Amino acid sequence: MRELRNHVGGRWVIPGDELFESTSPSTGEVVATAPVTFADGVDEAAKAARAAFEDGSWRRARGSDRGAALLALADALEEREAEVGELMAREMGKPVRIARGREVAGAVDRLRYFAGAARLVSGRFTGASVEELWDMEVPEPVGVCALIVPWNDPVDLAVRKMGAALAVGCSVVVKPSEVTPASTAVLFEIADELDLFPPGVINLIHGPGNPTGEALVGHLDVDKVSFTGSTGTGRRIMEVASRRLARVSLECGGKAPAVVFADADLDRCLDALTYGAFMYAGQSCTACTRLIVEDAVHDRVVEGIVRRSRDLAMGDPLEEATFVGPMASREQYDRAVGFLELGLSEGATAALGGEPGGDDLYLAPTVLLDVPHAGKVATEEIFGPILAVHRFSDEAEALALANGTRYGLAGSVWSQDISRALRIARRLDVADVWVNTHYVRQAETSFGGRHLSGIGRELGMAGVEEYLSWKRVCIDTRSSYHLKDWFEGGEGFRG
Ligand code: NAD
Repeated sequence: MRELRNHVGGRWVIPGDELFESTSPSTGEVVATAPVTFADGVDEAAKAARAAFEDGSWRRARGSDRGAALLALADALEEREAEVGELMAREMGKPVRIARGREVAGAVDRLRYFAGAARLVSGRFTGASVEELWDMEVPEPVGVCALIVPWNDPVDLAVRKMGAALAVGCSVVVKPSEVTPASTAVLFEIADELDLFPPGVINLIHGPGNPTGEALVGHLDVDKVSFTGSTGTGRRIMEVASRRLARVSLECGGKAPAVVFADADLDRCLDALTYGAFMYAGQSCTACTRLIVEDAVHDRVVEGIVRRSRDLAMGDPLEEATFVGPMASREQYDRAVGFLELGLSEGATAALGGEPGGDDLYLAPTVLLDVPHAGKVATEEIFGPILAVHRFSDEAEALALANGTRYGLAGSVWSQDISRALRIARRLDVADVWVNTHYVRQAETSFGGRHLSGIGRELGMAGVEEYLSWKRVCIDTRSSYHLKDWFEGGEGFRG
């Protein structure tokens, strides 16, 4: 069991007496204990970050030096891939092969991308119309950033925020999820061991949303909040941050549709969507949650997805072969089962699964038919292994179904008619569309949500720019002052 501490101002500290535990959802073992950080502890962390930012040794360091620190973090994380993957499997039940090969390896790649980005941030020169006017837009780091991370990708999502913020010279205070404090804390262990950042540039505070997260979001020293988590929490964060107009980026929930036309390559499509729906028990914001299928292939698609999903290996997340582990927590399990029972009571039928049982937190892949289009199961985020199948007869109906939620995160289109696929891609009201694939993500391409799925971008240079504050600097090298000349009888006003 790990006994975690906060990391504030370059030191490991315990902010008080109260502790909480993270427990394995598969065995119930206590994986880690961590302190609950109250307002005083949050204040210390935010002030340490502020002091480091004002000190300026990180933000004024060369981009190449900041990049070198991020590269070293990436290399050390890569060396510990097996250990971190196992820790995550124990802490939140993500199957170990996915935790290692998709999450930790992905986080390493993103850190390397941000290391490069530290040297690429550039401003703009805008003074073309008057030769002696040197008019510029200069990028500066936004300041102290509160980075609030959920449990479902506790390393990768922390890295998406930390990498971008640190690349441009910000100081950060990271608050991991109370479900996965140990997994996220590994990044700080590495940084501390290798002495990668000046004291106070990176700070870690543990604790639940309340009091810890809320006190951090409300802290006057925090210039920007970047949050990934549920839509309800995102709404609350925006409310608190709005009191002082602190900047916010919100990566919130999703309800991704997959629109499958009859001419799709069905084998490829069903292979992808089986994984897309049920990987780590559907606990991903971009998981395929709604299969919207053209009438002509509806029965084949249902048969194909049921056959593939039935064969998915469910079990101990520490087993290499496991693809579906337990739900991350009792709360998460109860929530998913609640949706399932609601769906069945509203007339849905289960083509696969549908019978939760036992005292453990394992919920088998479930495929529901006849789900009411406007009901909660079809329109609200479940965050579990429950896939609803709907049918359509033409493009208009497919789009009405796909766009029939208030989320706008991701979706996929499946057709070999590329004109049609692109037409649907443009009309899906989501911010991330895959054509003939699902779940592909690259560090180079930014990602974000619309509507209830959030505000702002992450990854890519657009994700880096979220941590910048623009300053206009104008240098007038003309021999006399233009306003005076004009006022005293010159030609028309020319700026
Ligand atoms: P959550 O909203 O319960 O918690 C997320 C984080 O916010 C945790 O660290 C939590 O402690 C903190 N928090 C809670 N209340 C807070 C408050 N009042 N002030 C400040 N911080 C607070 O979400 P979760 O259950 O950990 O994660 C699952 C959710 O995350 C799902 O809705 C999923 O769709 C979403 N998610 C979105 C993306 C994306 O990129 N859009 C990626 C992954 C997960």
